[in-house]
Amino acid sequence: MKKSTIAIQTRYPLPDAYGAVGMPVYHTAAYEFATAKEMADAFCGRSAAPSYSRVTNPTVTHFEDRVKALTGAADVFAFCSGMAAITNALLAVVEHGQNIVTSRHLFGNTVGLINRTLARLGVEGRFIDLLDLDAVRQAVDDHTACIFLEIITNPQMEVADLGALAEIAHGHGIPLIADTTIIPFTQFSAKDLGVDIEVVSSTKYISGGATSLGGLLMEYGTFPQVAQRIRAELLYNLGSYMAPHAAYMQTLGLETLDARYRVQAQNALNLAQRLAEVPQIVQTNYVGLKTNPFYTLAQKQFGPTAGAMLTIDLSDKQACFHFIDHLKLVRRVTNLFDNKTLAIHPYSTIFGPFSRSQKLAMDVLDTTIRLSVGLEDVDDIYEDIVQALP
Ligand SMILES: *Cc1c(COP(=O)(O)O)cnc(C)c1O
Repeated sequence: MKKSTIAIQTRYPLPDAYGAVGMPVYHTAAYEFATAKEMADAFCGRSAAPSYSRVTNPTVTHFEDRVKALTGAADVFAFCSGMAAITNALLAVVEHGQNIVTSRHLFGNTVGLINRTLARLGVEGRFIDLLDLDAVRQAVDDHTACIFLEIITNPQMEVADLGALAEIAHGHGIPLIADTTIIPFTQFSAKDLGVDIEVVSSTKYISGGATSLGGLLMEYGTFPQVAQRIRAELLYNLGSYMAPHAAYMQTLGLETLDARYRVQAQNALNLAQRLAEVPQIVQTNYVGLKTNPFYTLAQKQFGPTAGAMLTIDLSDKQACFHFIDHLKLVRRVTNLFDNKTLAIHPYSTIFGPFSRSQKLAMDVLDTTIRLSVGLEDVDDIYEDIVQALP
């Protein structure tokens, strides 16, 4: 079956007392047992019966099962946010005194997680240019826990060669962990590209229009100790599992993901092509444009679509603020892949807490506007953007 069919038709385990079409929402913190032995078996992992919703919940399990059916992952875990998924992935592999080799182009809070939170626990972040494979080979040593990357960086829109990075990681017996939020996992197989652990902010495309926060972690069977550690240790001790109501909404989101994504990716490509011709726009950056330096690699790795995020560069920061202030249809919002088109000036917002020199080192420029392209008619989006330009 095709992915769009699997996303909709993966059934929950019957019987249900009322034969509900959709998976019921089990809004319960805890579960009752008939005997002391059943209780002991559930708590000690000898049965699959749920014991407490910090660790497992039937509605969340069904969401995880649909993602498993779509990705072919050996294990899937749903968390309360994308950051929780990333935190669990890194804490499952790293020990005190080890290092994480990653890109100098990373989502702002992931930078903070590595160079502040994990640094305090004795973990070193090595933020390098992942396009320079020699630099990666030099950075990885006997104390490296993993290589971590984002498949299309934001807002720099850079694409690394996943196969080459997987080869380096596997040569050292360590996993390649990829944050694939920017292109839905229905479009390509991270596993086939050599990714061992995939993390996704399901707040974005999957939630179905910014309905809820969520995160996913897929383990592809190459590092099963990671799934084991999450199941037996981190779910219990970190308390970052997804809530049942979020799983309900995100399961619905999964059902329409393919249909929504097709329109959004098509809108993004159409918009990028048209914005590239507008004189006030210094540069339009979208990896789906044939003129983009990452076009060929992105097509090879992720297939014919290139996501619904693009950036435009204007002459200076004042022009960017003028643009943001004059938008009438496009929303001034930080999120990605809402049904609505969103705009933000990353330099002064998401990356606001970083110093000027830190932003320079991350190639976050004060001339860049990030656009997340929605489901509106693309002509309306285009007209609003053009009328807001200074
Ligand atoms: C949004 C985002 C995250 C964080 O996800 P939350 O669900 O907001 O915690 C991580 N990585 C990328 C690439 C993102 O876009």
